[in-house]
Amino acid sequence: MKSVIQLLPENISNQIAAGEVIQRPASAVKELVENSIDAGATDISVIIKDAGKQLIQVIDNGIGMTDIDARICFEKHATSKIKNFDDLYIIKTKGFRGEALASIAAVAQVEMKTRHKGSQVGTQVKVENSIVLSQEEVSTPEGTNLMARNLFYNVPARRNFLKSNQVEMKHIMEEVNRIALSHPMIRFRVYSNDSEIAHYKEGNIRQRIVSVMGEQINAGLVPLEEKSDYIHVHGFIGKPDFSRKTRGEQYLFVNNRFIKSSYINHAVMQAYKDILPADHFPFYAIFIDIDTSMVDVNVHPSKQEVKFEDERLVYTFVNAGVRHSLGMYNISPSLDFNQDVSVVNWDAFKEPKSFNPGNSGFISNHHNAIRNKQQEWQQLYEIAAQISDEEDETDNDSAGNEVSAEGRAPVQLNKRYILSQVRSGIVLIDQSYAHERILYEKYKHAIINGNLGVQKQLFPVSIELNNADSDLLQELVADISHLGFDVQYFGSNTFVIHGMPADLPGIPEKQLLEELLEQYKNSGTISGLNRQERLARAMAKSTCIKSGKVMDDIEMRSLTDELFSCENPYHTPGGKSTLIKIDWDEISGRFNQ
Ligand code: ADP
Ligand code: MG
Repeated sequence: MKSVIQLLPENISNQIAAGEVIQRPASAVKELVENSIDAGATDISVIIKDAGKQLIQVIDNGIGMTDIDARICFEKHATSKIKNFDDLYIIKTKGFRGEALASIAAVAQVEMKTRHKGSQVGTQVKVENSIVLSQEEVSTPEGTNLMARNLFYNVPARRNFLKSNQVEMKHIMEEVNRIALSHPMIRFRVYSNDSEIAHYKEGNIRQRIVSVMGEQINAGLVPLEEKSDYIHVHGFIGKPDFSRKTRGEQYLFVNNRFIKSSYINHAVMQAYKDILPADHFPFYAIFIDIDTSMVDVNVHPSKQEVKFEDERLVYTFVNAGVRHSLGMYNISPSLDFNQDVSVVNWDAFKEPKSFNPGNSGFISNHHNAIRNKQQEWQQLYEIAAQISDEEDETDNDSAGNEVSAEGRAPVQLNKRYILSQVRSGIVLIDQSYAHERILYEKYKHAIINGNLGVQKQLFPVSIELNNADSDLLQELVADISHLGFDVQYFGSNTFVIHGMPADLPGIPEKQLLEELLEQYKNSGTISGLNRQERLARAMAKSTCIKSGKVMDDIEMRSLTDELFSCENPYHTPGGKSTLIKIDWDEISGRFNQ
């Protein structure tokens, strides 16, 4: 019987394979631009005619190819980027399958000029139907200039399947923009039918976002920065008022590769819960940099999906990062950090080295990095300067204009919040959280650097504790002496108190010590804190002003001043916000003004 199985001619099999890689002009643009980036280009031009149906041309100033490489790059599985199986796991380049040029050469008429860096002359190769038609020397600048004409000229079914020029052009720009956002140091130009439609100059990420999205987005951007040894999440997120009814302006990059992930998207959207208008989507351009061995980008042919080794960890990290960013910029009116604190010890990595927690926490290990301190400070100084400005103004015009003077003095609300007006809006300080932060920094400093004043007791007092508290206090006696406690163990769970911290109001000794021990025990649920850190936290919590305390004008002002001279004025050591700022814009927005 006659055999019916035949091997497909190579050009036909390439055409079929091409269908997977090159679905439309935008996919060819993406592959070519990524090749230029892999070749180290710093300047890339994309020239399109008839939405890519007539011409897709990419010109770069990368390393170029030698004449041999220029010939074999169109072979299937021709790649310079991986040599063995293990390389697949550490891949850093955009492409690695060696399929793109072979696919393009199977479905378009290709003409490529390239000159390898340092070579005197370049080479020009023409390929059609996967066959190299010619190769000759040519004079051309260093880098590569590739033209793909008449895409799908030999696959009419596919060509007919293409959408209108407008739609195809939109896809092309989407691809270019994704790549441009993740490579701000590369200059990109796009021409369509001979006119320049995009020109992104090299710059930082923020500048690139503004070039791509338009100047109007600038005021709506909030930086994001969370770092650990294991994962670095950074980029920009949009303020809620800048959200849109369409989801299109959301970009996620893993190791600088654009990906789609409903899982990570969920982590972001959860952080915006309650602060977004209904049916709105915030802008974001979030970059997750993670050890390449912890992520598999090879799960989907077009490489838009990833699989993380530890998905939950990435979720938690991104979610907490976005919430923290929103909180830090006081966009979110109330953030509940309680949940995080047991998992992610935010504060631990903001404190000076000597205060870094031990190495017990799994995640907190990864969180030892520096935040976007500079911007934080900048905003802090702005608020602090505005408050003192307003107060000066108040003094000046108090005689002439009582109403405005009254309006500007700090006001206590609900025996808990201190309201101040600043130029750009209002600031609300939580008196208890603010005081906790102030005291925490003071105690932390005292434990390390020296003793706080001791008020010697005229008559030493003895107190008896239960077994557990007694054991604990014995352990802590030396440390608490730095805080002004002069306590001596007497045996049988009894302690003699010779002195108490000088600046503490008359809280009974036993009550204060028991409260301190209680708070100290509570702090044990947070992983990664050492004894001194726990003690500073516990002491701050035990002795801070509570809500319900009526504060006079002078107390409110000095609390505000002290808060603003803290190293980290925005959060309690446990991560709760100490203050929120609401801009006039937001207030007028809420009134629909
Ligand atoms: P891959 O990118 O997966 O390696 P491609 O088919 O896209 O496969 O490219 C094949 C090879 O051709 C690349 O590995 C690279 O060595 C070379 N190449 C492609 N485009 C360029 C370019 N613009 N500049 C320099 N070399 C290139
Ligand atoms: Mg490639």
